[in-house]
Amino acid sequence: MTLENQLCSKCDSTFEDELVHGICECPSTYSARIQFTDSLDNILLPDEKQSVLHLDSVSHTLRLLGAPVEPFLVLDSDFFILKHTFAFIFRCLQTYFSN
Ligand SMILES: [Zn+2]
Repeated sequence: MTLENQLCSKCDSTFEDELVHGICECPSTYSARIQFTDSLDNILLPDEKQSVLHLDSVSHTLRLLGAPVEPFLVLDSDFFILKHTFAFIFRCLQTYFSN
């Protein structure tokens, strides 16, 4: 199966996966990404935060959705991240799919 590039109606850039683009790439969700990134300071150690943020967009999206993608964190950190990511993902999708 090959993925075809699609055009984002928000930013006019092309993407292969709309969910990945809406969460990790689209400028329309940039402020939500910044808020989420800042909130990680209260949850993760600096090196844990950097290892999560340095994932590519696809791996990062999967990680935020709770997939077993490295870096693996201690269980408490994982629960906190999931709690924050669901709010973050909801905010991104709400912004991305709004008119
Ligand atoms: Zn876009």
